[in-house]
Amino acid sequence: METRSFLGRLGHEVGEALTPAVDLAFPPRCALCGDAIAAQTGLCIDCWATLAVPGEPSCRLCQRPLATGPLDGEPVCAPCLADAPRHNGIAAATLYNESSRQLVLSFKHGRRLGLAPVLARLMAARLPTLEGNWILIPVPLHRLRLWKRGYNQAVLLASGIARLRGLPLLREGLIRRKSTPSLGGLGKRARAKVLTGALAVNKHHSETIRGANIILVDDVLTSGATSDACIKALKKAGANKIMVSCFARVMDEALDNAHHAAPNTDLLLNSDTAYENARG
Ligand SMILES: [Zn+2]
Ligand SMILES: [Zn+2]
Repeated sequence: METRSFLGRLGHEVGEALTPAVDLAFPPRCALCGDAIAAQTGLCIDCWATLAVPGEPSCRLCQRPLATGPLDGEPVCAPCLADAPRHNGIAAATLYNESSRQLVLSFKHGRRLGLAPVLARLMAARLPTLEGNWILIPVPLHRLRLWKRGYNQAVLLASGIARLRGLPLLREGLIRRKSTPSLGGLGKRARAKVLTGALAVNKHHSETIRGANIILVDDVLTSGATSDACIKALKKAGANKIMVSCFARVMDEALDNAHHAAPNTDLLLNSDTAYENARG
């Protein structure tokens, strides 16, 4: 199948040089509404406006947007107050909403790989100015899922950010040793249990990781359980500072109260087949 082999090659890394090829495979149409757009920018102007960009005031530890600023001092959100994060900040391009959900679904399960540079650009723009040396490491997929999907979406995003910010990329800095079931519907402890031993630093790169500052990259940050497991493994290997970079950040509110949000995030996280079935 021609498309498949094209995507297979593209899946390794989406380069600027490939943009014309991407245009051939996916004529420039808005990824959300399908309207024709002038160039491969991903979205039309109206749909750009539907993305929710995290604003201020925000938690000084995790950048969660807060309804009101503190009366004095620097703001810290309730989850960070209860349990101080191991990371040094979360740079989210967007807050998870219907538009970002659709984009990630198209990118991750719908094979619209041409969206990688668009999403990566938004993510790179949200990263703060970083002092010292930083390395990008994508959240890994288990090899079975990688084989099924043909690409790791986090690698594509991380390589886009690497190019835009001039940062080194350690494509296989982390490995996923076991395939984990859906984390949707599980409590915090159950999620951590499922992930125990699932993620580890790649021994071939432990020298590079020791003492390094890391930007951990993923498409969606849901409960934070997966990124926490990655951070734990990186810290154990001696990593210094760790920032999390994601395209869409799910706020706890959405996880807690929406019946319809749970299967949606589940679909995002887990199943190419479910996506195909949903599309009919
Ligand atoms: Zn549109
Ligand atoms: Zn916080």
